[in-house]
Amino acid sequence: MTGWGEDGGGGVSDPKDQMCYVGFAACGCAVAATVDVPNHAKDNAKFVAGLIRDGLTVERRTVEWCRENLLRCTHKKAPAVAQGTLVL
Ligand SMILES: [Zn+2]
Repeated sequence: MTGWGEDGGGGVSDPKDQMCYVGFAACGCAVAATVDVPNHAKDNAKFVAGLIRDGLTVERRTVEWCRENLLRCTHKKAPAVAQGTLVL
């Protein structure tokens, strides 16, 4: 995951207009996200595919929403994935 709101790339629009792909765990919490930047479309597609493969539900949210809601899960249990398995 790269920095939030510090893309530095030219022409980054107002954060309010930026969207993220957010992965929701079974408990309904947002546990992963990536900013939907057009020139990262390929990476985003890979990221989203990985989330889906991991059993997450993927939806689009604003960057602002992510800042408020991402990684606030309080239902944390040991992930079903075997330890040592790196999920990108
Ligand atoms: Zn949760």
